[in-house]
Parts: sequence; structure tokens; C-alpha cells
Amino acid sequence: MSVLKIDLRDLRSGSFRVEGNIGASQLGLSRATGFFFTGPLVLRVRISTTNRLTYYVSGWVSFEISGECARCLKELSHEDRIRISGVFAFPEAVAKLDLTEKEVEQEGIFPLEAGQKIIDLTDLVRESVVLEYPRFLKCTEQCKGLCPVCGCDLNEKVCNCRQNAIDPRWAKLAELKRKG
Ligand SMILES: [Zn+2]
Ligand SMILES: [Zn+2]
Repeated sequence: MSVLKIDLRDLRSGSFRVEGNIGASQLGLSRATGFFFTGPLVLRVRISTTNRLTYYVSGWVSFEISGECARCLKELSHEDRIRISGVFAFPEAVAKLDLTEKEVEQEGIFPLEAGQKIIDLTDLVRESVVLEYPRFLKCTEQCKGLCPVCGCDLNEKVCNCRQNAIDPRWAKLAELKRKG
């Protein structure tokens, strides 16, 4: 069974370690923009409960992504680690908290249905990764990118385009003037 599916019948009160690999496609993340996951994401969390009504999930998911630097287009890979933290609660426990449905959502509580046997960590892990993973890759914070005129890598050389370049809009105008 997937590491994301926790069978509550196997858990007693206390704290449990859950570790395993998750494919990016299992999280619906295989088509992230601009980069891809080089391998499975590695989940390491603890699940703890004192009353078997509320389950606290806490730990990390780590992964490596690979793609192009958004500025200079160099291929690179990047390792990252994102915190996972969530609460799963049965109706009796939610009722004790005296929260509205909206508040339950805002507090990041995943409500369980009475009699539910399996906690599914998929949404918690997916949401955590989607909120936190980088929107684009950068080879370094200082990357100077490519020259928009000649396309050279400005980290490696200095070109003269900046002085000579004419804004493409003015270039059009200059051309019209010449014709007229
Ligand atoms: Zn770069
Ligand atoms: Zn240039």
C-alpha cells in the first residue's frame, strides 16, 4: 500500500514514524512548469495521537528537481525539503473544538468521517509541496542571464549590445522614417 495511506487499525495511541517514497505522479505533480522531479519524493513524518480521535502529522518531504535556470537557461538541479504539518480529526474531536466548517478549513484540519479506517496524506503532501516549491529555478541569486540582443551568457562574457541596442519599438519608427 502507498505510504500516503495510513491504516488507522494499525495505529494505537502514541507516535509512529512513516517513511517512504512517493512518485510525483501520485501527487499529480509530474507536469510542474519549467522543471521536473528527478526521482521520487521522500516522505518522513511522524503521526501521533493520544485519543485516536485526532491525529497530528508532522515531518518533511524532500525531493530533487531539475530544469533550466529561468535567466540563463543553464541546466541545473536543486534539492529541496518542505515541512509537512497537518491535523486529521474525527467528527467528535472537531465538535469539541466548536469550529464552523470554514474554520476547520482555515485551521488546516482534515476532517475524517465517522468509521473511516484510512487517513490519506495525499492532499496534505500535495498542498504543502505546491505552496512551497520554487516557482522557477535560478542557477545563482546573482545570475545575470542572457543578453536579449545577441543571446550571449552575461555570466561568462560582456558584450557591447547594451550601448548599441535600439529599443525594437524605436527601430520600427526609424525604419518608417527612412521609408517616408
Ligand atoms: Zn542562470
Ligand atoms: Zn549582447
